[in-house]
Amino acid sequence: MVDIEDDHPNLSGSEILDDGGIQDEGVKVRCRQCGTAIVLQTDWMGGKYVDRWRCSTCKNNLAILSDDEDGLIQPSEMLVLSSIPKGDSIEPESGEYQVVRDEHDEPNSTNLAAFFLNRAGRYEDNHIGRFDIEHNNVHVVFSGQRAIAYLSWNESRNGYMVLRQLYVAPSYRRQGIGGALIDYWWKDVARDWCEDDDDYYHVESPNESMSRLIYSIGHYEEAGGPIAYEHQVM
Ligand SMILES: [Zn+2]
Repeated sequence: MVDIEDDHPNLSGSEILDDGGIQDEGVKVRCRQCGTAIVLQTDWMGGKYVDRWRCSTCKNNLAILSDDEDGLIQPSEMLVLSSIPKGDSIEPESGEYQVVRDEHDEPNSTNLAAFFLNRAGRYEDNHIGRFDIEHNNVHVVFSGQRAIAYLSWNESRNGYMVLRQLYVAPSYRRQGIGGALIDYWWKDVARDWCEDDDDYYHVESPNESMSRLIYSIGHYEEAGGPIAYEHQVM
């Protein structure tokens, strides 16, 4: 299994060099991606949903402030849950994975795992939009306890079901996971949005590989699957 840090360089975290107390003199760390030494202090942390520090040199996520506010969490830990909420299994060619649906507006361990996968995806390819927990629902795929993929969705203003984002960790690509996830999502929630006998949903700003993936699982009219209408949002 590939390490999270190898899959997601900007979630590499940091090594503690000198712990002066995060509420006190700060914690001196070394960035695991670029080697810069930095003193983490609460007066310059930032970020949405969780308080965190990023390396000013390489943008790596260095650490996250723990809930009790006196400890640090490594960013890769946000992708590994101590217990997985109840979900279903999907079985693409590469094995069995758990899919968990989360529709909460407030941050929790599941949607925060998707949020950090989104941060990793944005670092790899800035074309993927931000994942906002309060505006999107999510299906997260777990391999064991590790979050390896997510699909975000919501209802458009005019009542359509929209697939917003799909992201699969690099070392889990080309194994059928993305297609199995879209298919699961369609049956789990999207299908219920369709009235009459028309099966369709909308896809927001798919890139080329996303369009190919949707085609490969037969989500177009001639294949008889649900029709995925693709929209480019400017
Ligand atoms: Zn760095």
